[in-house]
Amino acid sequence: MVETYDIAIIGGGIIGNSIAAHLAKENLKIAIIDPNNLGLPASKAAAGLFQIQSSELGNKELIDFCHESFSYFPKFYKEISDSFENIDLGFRKTGSIYLTFNEEDIKEKENEYNELKIKPKLSFLKKEEVFILEPKAAKNIVGGFHYPEEGYINNPKFLKAISSYCLANNTVFIESRVEEIAINKNKIQNVVLANGEIIHANKYILCNGAWANKLLKKALNIEQNLIIGVKGEIMQLGVNGQLPIKNVLLSHNGYIVPRPATNSLEEDSIIVGGTTEEIDIEKTPNIFKNSPEGILKLNRLVENLLPSCTNLPRIKTWAGIRPKTIDSLPIIDTSPDLENLILAVGHYRNGILMGPLTGKIISELILTNSTSFDINKFKCERFLSKQQLSHSIA
Ligand SMILES: Cc1cc2nc3c(=O)[nH]c(=O)nc-3n(C[C@H](O)[C@H](O)[C@H](O)COP(=O)(O)OP(=O)(O)OC[C@H]3O[C@@H](n4cnc5c(N)ncnc54)[C@H](O)[C@@H]3O)c2cc1C
Repeated sequence: MVETYDIAIIGGGIIGNSIAAHLAKENLKIAIIDPNNLGLPASKAAAGLFQIQSSELGNKELIDFCHESFSYFPKFYKEISDSFENIDLGFRKTGSIYLTFNEEDIKEKENEYNELKIKPKLSFLKKEEVFILEPKAAKNIVGGFHYPEEGYINNPKFLKAISSYCLANNTVFIESRVEEIAINKNKIQNVVLANGEIIHANKYILCNGAWANKLLKKALNIEQNLIIGVKGEIMQLGVNGQLPIKNVLLSHNGYIVPRPATNSLEEDSIIVGGTTEEIDIEKTPNIFKNSPEGILKLNRLVENLLPSCTNLPRIKTWAGIRPKTIDSLPIIDTSPDLENLILAVGHYRNGILMGPLTGKIISELILTNSTSFDINKFKCERFLSKQQLSHSIA
């Protein structure tokens, strides 16, 4: 069977869904192709931190973009949540506190702050001041950095809401995997799915996260893998009726995020995360399974940040795969060789935060062939040889 669309989006995580949502009201026929139910590898697995602390961003080059994403996110959130009456998608700007345990921690955070071009709202709290906000924080802290505008989102629920919004606005979800892209001269002619379907579209968007290497190599005509899968483990603890923290707590070794119930069927809980381990997703068995070492690290984190909560019941543990490029910056770009392909991959540790703005940028690229945002750092030419570039310009 052959189907034709205006836009075919390969990958239905936060990036693919955000792109579709930004195009949803343009009267286009859009397909999101994904074998999993909604971004299982990363977008559903994430902890939902909504923050711009550079130590958690993983790459200082990203800071400006994260700030822009941080400003844009609430607008997109409002568009999505307003389309569902009385549904709470768990977005809370409660603030976050980076706990410091010694002078070195403080120096590191001060240096980080001094280097920032755009300064986030931030104040240093003495130990006693931290305890006023978070009485259960570890007693051996020396203080904390308080970011009052940060917070968290219930990312699985948000993702589901974005996809329902897309569905209500003419997007079709195709539950299968893109196995192959057929290229003719400088265009993608069609994509072939694992279920045998062939999809034709005027434009294709590649955003299949940690699995992008195969299609990316073909599209860019390169041998090298550009995407590395970085496994992250998470633990969710029940709180017996009362959230022990209001703010997100962070430290050198990880974070604890409140996840309040958003309806009467859910329970309040806290999310403890996240480990980081680079893996070869093609060769590593059981990539979504937790490891004893991972769980040990997460237990230690609770002991260190919130010692009175070490006996809380474990609700669930899981693991996800962050898509990281080899220089840790995302690729957000039109393809240099294929005129009907756009790339949006490699959002690594911050894809929930950056997803909505990425969706806006890609929609601008599709609708106007340009974007009002600076994406120079995210162009794929940084990975191409001079020879390949001169070939694509010619
Ligand atoms: C443990 C963990 C904690 C995190 N915490 C945070 C956080 O607190 N805040 C934050 O901002 N970010 C966080 N992140 C990062 C964030 O989750 C990712 O950056 C983001 O989800 C990446 O989105 P994506 O759409 O690119 O990838 P994904 O969500 O992985 O989606 C890609 C989709 O492509 C599909 N796919 C794969 N191959 C194919 C194919 N051949 N054809 C069609 N579809 C295909 C997959 O099934 C998948 O659904 C975290 C990630 C992890 C793993």
